[in-house]
Amino acid sequence: MNDDKLSIGSAQLYSPAAPAISDGTHALPTAASTDVDASHLTKSHQLLTDSFARRLTYLRLSITDFCNFRCEYCLPNGYQGKRPDDELSVPEIATLIRGFAEVGTKKVRITGGEPSIRRDVVEIIQTIKQTEGIETVAMTSNGYKLGKHLANWQAAGLNKLNISMDSFDADTFHKMTGFNTLPQLLSDMDTLLNTTEIKLKINSILMAETAFENLMDAIDYVKDRPVTYRFIEFMQTSDNSDLFFAQHAQSDVIIDYLTEHGWQPHVRGSSDGPAVEYSHPDYVGRIGMIAPYAAHFCDTCNRLRVSSQGKVHLCLFDQGNYDIRQHLQTGDVQGLVETLHSFMPIKPEHHHLHESNSGIMHNLSIIGG
Ligand code: SAM
Ligand code: SF4
Repeated sequence: MNDDKLSIGSAQLYSPAAPAISDGTHALPTAASTDVDASHLTKSHQLLTDSFARRLTYLRLSITDFCNFRCEYCLPNGYQGKRPDDELSVPEIATLIRGFAEVGTKKVRITGGEPSIRRDVVEIIQTIKQTEGIETVAMTSNGYKLGKHLANWQAAGLNKLNISMDSFDADTFHKMTGFNTLPQLLSDMDTLLNTTEIKLKINSILMAETAFENLMDAIDYVKDRPVTYRFIEFMQTSDNSDLFFAQHAQSDVIIDYLTEHGWQPHVRGSSDGPAVEYSHPDYVGRIGMIAPYAAHFCDTCNRLRVSSQGKVHLCLFDQGNYDIRQHLQTGDVQGLVETLHSFMPIKPEHHHLHESNSGIMHNLSIIGG
């Protein structure tokens, strides 16, 4: 991805708002800057809190933007171009996580692209897990390599795994992802449930065409399995507008059915994600709903995102991002801490999806949803 630079503190803001030149690079836009020196802050004051009093305790780290799948709502034509050869290294990730842990991050989710295609993913899990202050290491994956690597992921300390599985029907799954691997994935997930302590959730895009069938299948699936099956409301990006307008469905279609059939919503914990989960006395598992278009969705935002090239995204759908790689390359944890504090005044209050504005997020494989 080519970006434009603005400076802020010791980091650089990348904004795509500037006009693109014919070779795809962008001209430098105008600059904005903030000077925040956090070096005087005591440990107890170093927790990241933004200007809307939201405490940021959750980091989502993309370790590659490459993906092998071709999900029709994300990368319908597959990953384009050559996979970058400058993804964050393990030592850079170690510095990154130490800096985030110092400012109060407790949970790190590894995502992508498809994180499991990185050969050193086990080392990455271990590195994050061993960082003082980090309580939970999670990963989001398409599950393609689940069976092969499950034991290693567990041994490395992975606590939670979210698998994206958009249908219980093998043909629909094949059509949606480009891979005819649903039976294997279902079997691998049962192995996970039967042999590991890893907490499993399944993510599924809420599409008008498949919503009801998926809901019925999901309710069957969680009858005896300790799994939360979560619908994610389809988010519009610049790459998927046609499909979005054809298939976007409101979360009410799921919620109304659940509440009419005896499912009860749960109050979310402070480090939980944005899903509202529903349980039922006759079912072991839960059904969840992530509804980014719902009112007040962003009020409880607790996260920051970092790309596989070391750029901070203050909001998934922000207009730009900030390059912190220099801190990572030089092992500069204190500089990173100060830069993270300098972002707090400018973390956006909310996204602008309602105005069909997804910022620089052409598709979610760039930063992992
Ligand atoms: N490849 C991994 C996977 O699929 O789980 C991690 C990256 S993927 C971008 C993370 C999540 O974002 C997946 O659950 C995917 O379904 C979701 N996602 C992708 N595009 C989306 C969109 N336009 N709206 C809502 N969720 C989306
Ligand atoms: Fe790949 Fe995940 Fe996007 Fe599907 S949703 S194309 S698996 S990054």
